[in-house]
Amino acid sequence: MRDPECLFCKIVHKEIDSTLVSESERALAFRDINPAAPTHVLIIPKDHLVSVRELTTAHGELIGEIFELAAQIASDEGLEDYRLVSNVGPGAGQSVFHLHFHVLGGRSMSWPPG
Ligand code: AMP
Repeated sequence: MRDPECLFCKIVHKEIDSTLVSESERALAFRDINPAAPTHVLIIPKDHLVSVRELTTAHGELIGEIFELAAQIASDEGLEDYRLVSNVGPGAGQSVFHLHFHVLGGRSMSWPPG
């Protein structure tokens, strides 16, 4: 359930360093290397999935863990307001093709995003 070429699979398997924030059975959270906000954490499944496009009802436990982690991270970071984003495909800004959710907070944000 891993892609040997995938950057985030290498982070899961500790072959590349990351700043770990939190972990659950199926998901891992670490700080974005190029933060776009004072809090910028990425939450990823430990198994390789390309994007949210692959998620189905069979991933219910994983999805629940990811959203629980997001809420816990926001609380731990003292964020009352935050943004939870998953880019799907390069045209939407996806640059790493291992499913991830960005938890962004600590500054005011505009809408719509660029
Ligand atoms: P996206 O552009 O939505 O695919 O998001 C990918 C994110 O991964 C970007 O915000 C990058 O800054 C971040 N990133 C890339 N390499 C690393 C890394 N080695 N450790 C932590 N974050 C990374």
